[in-house]
Amino acid sequence: MMQCFHCGREVRGTIHTQKSYWVDYYRLHTGHSEWDVLINPKTDAPPTRYRRLTQPTDIISCIDCYDRPEIRRLLDDDVTGRRSIVDQNLEDDTPPELDFKG
Ligand SMILES: [Zn+2]
Repeated sequence: MMQCFHCGREVRGTIHTQKSYWVDYYRLHTGHSEWDVLINPKTDAPPTRYRRLTQPTDIISCIDCYDRPEIRRLLDDDVTGRRSIVDQNLEDDTPPELDFKG
């Protein structure tokens, strides 16, 4: 069973009808990533930094969630490399509570 990464509902595979087909979900291939450095020993060029995928995974987004702007933004951030969708918690964007002492 495949579940939507965002809302958890079950998604169905591609549905074919006589004249057309439609999908119930979108699949995003992503994963945890971390910065790594690529060093070319043959040149004096500076090392190249790149994002290395450490835990490849597929993210399933149902078409309902895919239509939501905030979900689309998360997916866009992942695709463009700004922030991996699996590297963030499901919490909202409220800043952590500050504990002022004294
Ligand atoms: Zn969903």
